[in-house]
Amino acid sequence: MQTPAPVEYERAASLEDAISSLQGRGPGARIIAGGHSLIPMMKLRLATPELLIDINDLAELSYIREQGDEIRIGALTRHVELLQSDLLAERLPVFRDAEELIADPPVRNRGTIGGSLCQADAAEDLSAVCSALKATVVIRGPEGQRVVGLDEFYVGPFMTAVGEAEILTEVRIPLRPGAGSAHEKVERRAGDFAIAAVAAAVWIDGGTIVDAGIGLSALGPTTMRATHAEELLRASSPSEELFAQAGTMASEDCSPLADSRGPVDYKRHLAGVLTKRALRRASARALKQET
Ligand SMILES: Cc1cc2nc3c(=O)[nH]c(=O)nc-3n(C[C@H](O)[C@H](O)[C@H](O)COP(=O)(O)OP(=O)(O)OC[C@H]3O[C@@H](n4cnc5c(N)ncnc54)[C@H](O)[C@@H]3O)c2cc1C
Repeated sequence: MQTPAPVEYERAASLEDAISSLQGRGPGARIIAGGHSLIPMMKLRLATPELLIDINDLAELSYIREQGDEIRIGALTRHVELLQSDLLAERLPVFRDAEELIADPPVRNRGTIGGSLCQADAAEDLSAVCSALKATVVIRGPEGQRVVGLDEFYVGPFMTAVGEAEILTEVRIPLRPGAGSAHEKVERRAGDFAIAAVAAAVWIDGGTIVDAGIGLSALGPTTMRATHAEELLRASSPSEELFAQAGTMASEDCSPLADSRGPVDYKRHLAGVLTKRALRRASARALKQET
């Protein structure tokens, strides 16, 4: 049986408390949220923290709300809450698409959006969703808080811009008119990580795509944006031909690795097909709102 190395444990009573513990202990301390990525890594001894700081009592980090021209999601918000949110289903349906296929109910009941983004697994789904939506994240530390775009957030496989004594506290998603979004995923079996997945968002005004975001999961060493395909879409009218061209570009630009989920050629093929399908559904949703 695999067991983690011995580890100290404390429950943070406040955000300040958690930051102060992180700062006091240095690199040996780790935040634990849902534990669904960290505990398996500890069991395999791929992570050997000396101290776990549990943030599950920090109810102030659990919310989904519309504020001004943004949707704000607290870092401790669970997958199940994202899945069941009527606000997200109405304004950002890509979340429900993705959550319907993330893991299984026990994982969704505990796993959090903050943990998902901070784990920075290239195959993880919410990072691609938030990238497509051009989200920013709020990071708090001893020096105060900073707001970071997701483009700067992923600095490498399993590595983010969150510093040693910092905590991700919030995800902010801009709300813009004419938006439509969708997520497409192929998995080996129900509840598994993606072989490949694509999240797409488009913003349409008067029948023209004014902006687009395409986030790719399991198609590179970390979450990627298909930026050339996004450029192609801007100032164009939505059409099957355009979506197919964007799919071809995403397929050429991604850099998947061969692994037990499939070879590179298959993943590239999926990148093209899933990009086309996600754009088709995102555009249909945007156009439905326009009429
Ligand atoms: C069987 C199984 C299947 C899964 N399938 C999928 C899937 O299909 N798609 C998918 O996307 N995911 C999947 N997951 C991952 C799941 O979504 C996890 O819940 C998620 O990756 C991590 O969230 P967590 O809250 O459990 O994080 P934890 O395991 O608690 O933490 C993960 C990492 O993030 C850090 N961390 C956590 N919260 C913060 C914070 N607020 N600030 C700073 N650092 C923080 C921790 O220190 C740790 O390094 C699966 C997991 C399992 C076990």
